Amino acid sequence: MNVKEHESLKLKTTMHIGGSARYYAELKTKSDVEEAWRFAEEKSVPLLVLGAGSNTIFADSLINALVVRIAADHLSVDGNRVEAEVGRPLGYIVNALAQHNLDLSALTGIPGTLGGALFGNAGQGPTGLWIGHFVESVTAFLGSSWRTFSKEECLFGYRDSVFKRSSSPVILWSAHLAPPSRPQEEIAQEIRSLLAKRREAQPFSMTAGSCFKALSDGTPAWQIIDRAQLRGFRVGGVETSPKHANFLINTGDATYADASDLIQTIRKKTGAPLELEMRFIDETGRVLS
Ligand SMILES: Cc1cc2nc3c(=O)[nH]c(=O)nc-3n(C[C@H](O)[C@H](O)[C@H](O)COP(=O)(O)OP(=O)(O)OC[C@H]3O[C@@H](n4cnc5c(N)ncnc54)[C@H](O)[C@@H]3O)c2cc1C
Repeated sequence: MNVKEHESLKLKTTMHIGGSARYYAELKTKSDVEEAWRFAEEKSVPLLVLGAGSNTIFADSLINALVVRIAADHLSVDGNRVEAEVGRPLGYIVNALAQHNLDLSALTGIPGTLGGALFGNAGQGPTGLWIGHFVESVTAFLGSSWRTFSKEECLFGYRDSVFKRSSSPVILWSAHLAPPSRPQEEIAQEIRSLLAKRREAQPFSMTAGSCFKALSDGTPAWQIIDRAQLRGFRVGGVETSPKHANFLINTGDATYADASDLIQTIRKKTGAPLELEMRFIDETGRVLS
């Protein structure tokens, strides 16, 4: 494992908000993972895993943490049993499995890696399909050892998993998936239709997707933001998208402070118990809730 210190390269996120990491490494093997964990312990800094950054923003300054990316992305298919390493983009997996008549089309159009998707149980809304529905098991480094979690042990819920709730650092490594079989042409048709719906409903700009989760009664966050007339509301360089009120947009020169101020304003003005879906990571490596 090659750790870069005070890397001047900015951490990559789709919202293009964030500074650089005090320590940064790409992990290619399981022993790299163990080494990274030991390194973070020795330096007494948080260990943060970054996937494609499509649900994450970092503080603009130097983040006092070891930030790692998983550079393992092997994918194998045997009948309807699929094994994938978490660095592989989810969209690639959806399309590749369609060629094998295996249907993950419900996850169409979700940016990011398999790791990010498993961590946050990415997918449709509270009553739809999530990646957890297709998981058989997940292998992760947690605490200080390797463990394979059965689907039940993953405790998948709406944008929730045992990994997200863990108080110790978790590094997801691979998963076995068992998608249902369906003819390739039907899957391709479904993928096209879902992509068209996204193009209609979502902005294609610098964003990290939905900022808040739906409320526990299922009310979508965009409805709450809309009712408070905060669609298109702007703080500094960040606004709620005029196209989808729950998407924060970087209008060009957004800062982390703009984004955090905007979410506080939304919470205050709506008065609703809005939980973050996006990951806001401050300069100490702490994740805001
Ligand atoms: C335009 C757009 C549309 C979106 N639509 C949807 C949608 O329909 N449904 C949905 O659920 N999400 C959606 N998202 C959000 C985002 O795509 C998902 O949350 C995605 O799964 C994040 O993956 P990532 O690799 O980018 O994760 P990152 O943003 O890099 O990380 C997210 C979290 O996962 C953790 N993580 C990532 N990899 C690992 C790993 N290997 N081990 C441990 N922890 C890890 C990170 O530490 C972080 O806490 C959308 C985002 C955008 C920009």
